[in-house]
Amino acid sequence: MPHQPRAVAGAEVTPLCDAVGPMGRAIRRPMAETFPGSGLAEEPWILHFHCYLIRDQAGRVTLVDTGIGAEDSPASSWAPVPGALEAELAAAGVTPADVDVVILTHLHSDHASGAVADGGPRFVNARYVLQQADLDAVRGETLDRVVTPIKDRLQVVEGDQEVAPGVRVHLAAGHTPGHQIVRVGKLAITGDLVLHPVQLADPGIHYVYDDDQEAAAATRAEVLAGLRAERAILATAHFPDPFLRL
Ligand SMILES: [Zn+2]
Ligand SMILES: [Zn+2]
Repeated sequence: MPHQPRAVAGAEVTPLCDAVGPMGRAIRRPMAETFPGSGLAEEPWILHFHCYLIRDQAGRVTLVDTGIGAEDSPASSWAPVPGALEAELAAAGVTPADVDVVILTHLHSDHASGAVADGGPRFVNARYVLQQADLDAVRGETLDRVVTPIKDRLQVVEGDQEVAPGVRVHLAAGHTPGHQIVRVGKLAITGDLVLHPVQLADPGIHYVYDDDQEAAAATRAEVLAGLRAERAILATAHFPDPFLRL
């Protein structure tokens, strides 16, 4: 467990480091192309892949994102599979059956693939929270191998909603149509709202794999301005350090 938990608003938030590595050859590009106009180097980007565990004020367990999944997961064409999520959960004292709620920030394969195991839900006692717009947009392998096996356990939301005591989701669309962030007190688990620290200084820097680059940049600027105004703590999916105070 390389990263330390943090206490916030009566809850404890633990980063789970699912993997660290470059993207695979299928979609690997130099950082200068991944973030056009950023001035970043002509080197591959080394990402961390973080999920977050929330033990809320009522003692319930929420998992935000489920990582890259098994050796043969839908993320295997480009992410450093298999993910270490289950070992990270165990190190935090949690078994998959202990998880009450799974929030999927969005349905990209590096965030959602660990939701399933052996063709069924990996978190057998959990409901899975997802925005309607991402459910409407999902196609292909992620639909067949991730969403269909959990379809009876989905809690589909639209916009903003409290999904566990003190845990809220907020639609922050652009990276995907139904991309959402998660709030616990002053902490914001930001999914792929922001991919690289360079986008904190300039939210207008595009990420080549945003579904809608203009919408993503506008959402990034608006949400980050709000979070900055309240001096929020960010919990990011792909930065080397999971926590960062704005
Ligand atoms: Zn990490
Ligand atoms: Zn994504």
